[in-house]
Amino acid sequence: MTAYTAPLRDMEFVLRELAGIDDVAALPGYEEASWELVASVLEEAGRIASEVLAPLNHSGDRQGARLTDGKVLTADGWDAAYRTLADGNWIGLSAHPQYGGMGLPGVVNVAVSEMWQAANMAFALCPMLSQGAYNAIKECGSAEQKAAFLPKLASGQWCGTMNLTEAGAGSDLGAIRTKAVRSGDHYLISGQKIFITYGEHGLAENIIHLVLARTPDAPPASRASPCSSCRRFCSTPTAAWVPAMTSIACRWNTKWGSTPARRR
Ligand SMILES: Cc1cc2nc3c(=O)[nH]c(=O)nc-3n(C[C@H](O)[C@H](O)[C@H](O)COP(=O)(O)OP(=O)(O)OC[C@H]3O[C@@H](n4cnc5c(N)ncnc54)[C@H](O)[C@@H]3O)c2cc1C
Repeated sequence: MTAYTAPLRDMEFVLRELAGIDDVAALPGYEEASWELVASVLEEAGRIASEVLAPLNHSGDRQGARLTDGKVLTADGWDAAYRTLADGNWIGLSAHPQYGGMGLPGVVNVAVSEMWQAANMAFALCPMLSQGAYNAIKECGSAEQKAAFLPKLASGQWCGTMNLTEAGAGSDLGAIRTKAVRSGDHYLISGQKIFITYGEHGLAENIIHLVLARTPDAPPASRASPCSSCRRFCSTPTAAWVPAMTSIACRWNTKWGSTPARRR
């Protein structure tokens, strides 16, 4: 079993003396982020990292994710650990209260995420990707998309992923070939993505895939490519999405064997 003890004193030093958490707490919207509150949050996060996540690190790596009867199953204990994070509103720690989040400064979430990742990197990628999807939609989404996606991502009811890498496009995302063609009020997406961390699993009831794709008029540069969001369960599945659902394959990687990934 992996042992982990959060370096709370070091974190306090970094947050107070270097990051200036007390100044951050003086900013509008963060009035409640007193050091007393932040310290208690970090202490509880450290306890969860030690008692819930670290004990699953080795066993999860040994067992790994597996494809059974068309479903991707995570390692034993993953479900309960995920519920601990979701039910405790840890995934929405820095999400805006308007969307059900705790509204704490992002720097607090950085410290908490460091604990999750130090205790169990394979597991911690799941909430990290959901938070990434939350942030992307919050920055770039329409009001309708924000209302539909953000509360569920913040609460952990849904998870998120990023679908960037393709067989011929890894470091150089300008080479992606996945296409997004507008069709009325949505896009039809075609192409292949690989190495999609937490691309399929049963931890949450839905998975929001942010897919980097190229529109027909996009210039040959990755910056010009929009992100499309696909839901695992679409209320109105697109022609491109349904076949994508039928070609699920599990990919293990050598380092983080218990991280479920999906190729489609
Ligand atoms: C565990 C894991 C999880 C992942 N999860 C995701 C995910 O969730 N979503 C997703 O979209 N992708 C994911 N990826 C893919 C990851 O982003 C790519 O593997 C990464 O971008 C590198 O791309 P590549 O594997 O095609 O390697 P390449 O880009 O082909 O690189 C191969 C080698 O060439 C080197 N290289 C590349 N370009 C240059 C250059 N210009 N100059 C010098 N050297 C160069 C690289 O450093 C590397 O050593 C994941 C990968 C791993 C291993």
